[in-house]
Amino acid sequence: EKSNQENLKPHCNIGTIGHVDHGKTTLTAAITKVLEKRGLANFTSYDEIDKAPEEKARGITINAAHIGYETSKRTYAHTDCPGHADYIKNMISGASQMDGSILVVGADDGQMPQTREHLLLAKQVGIDKIVVYINKADKVDNEILELVELEVRELLCDFGFDGGNCPVIYGSALKALTGDESEIGEQSILKLLDAIDNYIPTPQRDVNGPLLMPIDNFFTVPGRGSVVVGTIKRGTMVKNSDIELLGFDQKFKSTVSDIQIFKKSYNKALAGENVGVLLRNIKIKNIQRGMLLCAPNTETLSNHFEANMYLLSKAEGGRKLPLASKYIQQIYSRTWCIPARIDLENSQILMPGDHGKVRITLFKKMVMSIGQPFTFREQGTTVATGIITKRFD
Ligand code: GDP
Ligand code: MG
Repeated sequence: EKSNQENLKPHCNIGTIGHVDHGKTTLTAAITKVLEKRGLANFTSYDEIDKAPEEKARGITINAAHIGYETSKRTYAHTDCPGHADYIKNMISGASQMDGSILVVGADDGQMPQTREHLLLAKQVGIDKIVVYINKADKVDNEILELVELEVRELLCDFGFDGGNCPVIYGSALKALTGDESEIGEQSILKLLDAIDNYIPTPQRDVNGPLLMPIDNFFTVPGRGSVVVGTIKRGTMVKNSDIELLGFDQKFKSTVSDIQIFKKSYNKALAGENVGVLLRNIKIKNIQRGMLLCAPNTETLSNHFEANMYLLSKAEGGRKLPLASKYIQQIYSRTWCIPARIDLENSQILMPGDHGKVRITLFKKMVMSIGQPFTFREQGTTVATGIITKRFD
């Protein structure tokens, strides 16, 4: 007999991205409409989606609708944001981590600045798979659709996506939403869902990659040694294997002497599991919350990074004043915080409510990987949020 877990469909997080007015919200509503007919969703109207409640995600106000639906294959949580600023915040803060995205391109406009900006952000936050819906097919003829497709495939390649092979569907979200059953109406939505089902892989815990575990907690077991506690983010931890402990300018070599899960010893533990790890020859005074446990020679300590950062507006509880170079504050990421300095390119300033490229200098070397989110806080309130885009060794 199957367990309850095995009867559940796999889950996937997706969302619509693309230029304003290209039809993202219309498409989201149309998906629920078409699936409702098949008993796989509750219809959510355009107005309900666009009236999304304000969300408090890590102290940042984001307007976003999270719509649930399912296909025969999987269940989905779908994010649609009302405005461009909400997309920026949502993606930069990692508020809803998407496993893949639907890029909506209005056929009458073709690619536009926000199409490119969302693709850049998608790449930076680690979204790998994009399915394209060329919308408003009712407004143009077939030659235009083919031209837009060529242009979008090229654009995707420019941003490092697989533009040559990703599915591209022509349709009219508005027709589908108003019950049209033709090729560009309902049929296009079914084609889109099929493409999503097959092209965007179900996220899997990476148990084969190099071991990575941020340390949440640590303590001493008298007579045995130092134990660190955390959730394995990637890889498989094996008893008696060599590991490294990295962070705060320090690098220690050690060995996994014991692995405990709920007070029982195991020979190995996989990504996703919360473990206590007994470390050989590591003094408790050398351990800090926020250090990383990793496979030897796989991660690099650095204190120079480039990032894409959003400065919260005053209305969002952010700063009243713009931010200039040599700004020093506490940076928060994963399970650690330390002082850091921000510098802006060409000694520009960043206005509250704006986003831009920044240089970050940590006061101590840490491990930060591309796509890793962080925030800056002043007196306990978040004033900026961002993602790492580059590391300088
Ligand atoms: P968003 O800003 O990307 O969410 O775009 P919306 O979904 O709000 O759509 C913008 C406008 O385009 C609205 O007036 C829609 O009715 C219209 N629209 C959306 N899809 C289609 C379509 O397939 N055909 C036509 N002709 N208009 C559409
Ligand atoms: Mg919209």
